[in-house]
Amino acid sequence: AKEQGKNQVQFFNETMKQTVLKKTIIETALHQALENREFALYYQPQFDIQTKEVIGMEALLRWKHPQMGLVSPGVFIPIAEETGQIVAIGEWVIEEACRQIKQWNEQYGRSLPLSINISPKQFLQENLVDYITSVLTKTNVPAEQLDLEITEGVAVFNEQYTIEKLQQLKQIGVHISIDDFGTGYSSLSYLRKFPIDRLKIAKPFIDGITEVEEDAAIVASIIVLAKSLKLRVIAEGVETNEQLNVLHSLRCDEIQGYVLGKPLPKEEFEKMYFV
Ligand code: C2E
Ligand code: CA
Ligand code: CA
Repeated sequence: AKEQGKNQVQFFNETMKQTVLKKTIIETALHQALENREFALYYQPQFDIQTKEVIGMEALLRWKHPQMGLVSPGVFIPIAEETGQIVAIGEWVIEEACRQIKQWNEQYGRSLPLSINISPKQFLQENLVDYITSVLTKTNVPAEQLDLEITEGVAVFNEQYTIEKLQQLKQIGVHISIDDFGTGYSSLSYLRKFPIDRLKIAKPFIDGITEVEEDAAIVASIIVLAKSLKLRVIAEGVETNEQLNVLHSLRCDEIQGYVLGKPLPKEEFEKMYFV
């Protein structure tokens, strides 16, 4: 047993070393990324499920490292969140998103809302509301066109602080969506207290919606819940027409997913949805 224990310790150390090494490499490379303009935003359309009209889009961060190539946000966002680099990166996302909204507003005379992801650490920054206000003012973008996607996790940290922040954000006029709704292990009571506009049903539930009875039941309940709370509801990660049909019959308001549109670089998004 002692021998085995020793081996386990060694094995664990090896894995840890790999993880730390990867983390260190990414952390170091992230330091340069903003300065070297290695980030870009991709845009994924969001559709009205009835009319199939584009009613908004989500900005998704892409990082192209000169040697490593495209690094997935699933890999670098958690590291940036841990190291705190997410704050500066997130500020770049807010700026870039507003610049893009302004350009599309001017060029196409459309005013579609744009959703951006706000990480928990970014949400907890003292100056978030001031920062967003200053960027909106500087770029002359109406606050109503900006939608902030936050996760249920922010509520766990400090509910009172979260409520105050959200109220301040509502006051300036931005919209709030709860991302990955249903995966946060949190109680539903926050839904009464948080001034939010929309629930985004997490992809794992959508994945099972046509095959797993429990998933279909959960999605149906979330949609009913959203309606009775007068919130919009959007399904994300919709990949098939079967899923689309089920969501339609459940009276989901909006959908986002590969079945109708993948995330695209701004030029391609423009050609596809604005021209
Ligand atoms: P998320 O906010 O839940 O974004 C949705 C993810 O699902 C995106 O992955 C999107 O490309 C992908 N997706 C959309 N439709 C489909 C579909 O039909 N099938 C499949 N398989 N995937 C679909 P992505 O772009 O890799 O982003 C991963 C996560 O990284 C995001 O999850 C979000 O948590 C985070 N992230 C991305 N951009 C930002 C950002 O600017 N700031 C912060 N804080 N986090 C970001
Ligand atoms: Ca999101
Ligand atoms: Ca999500």
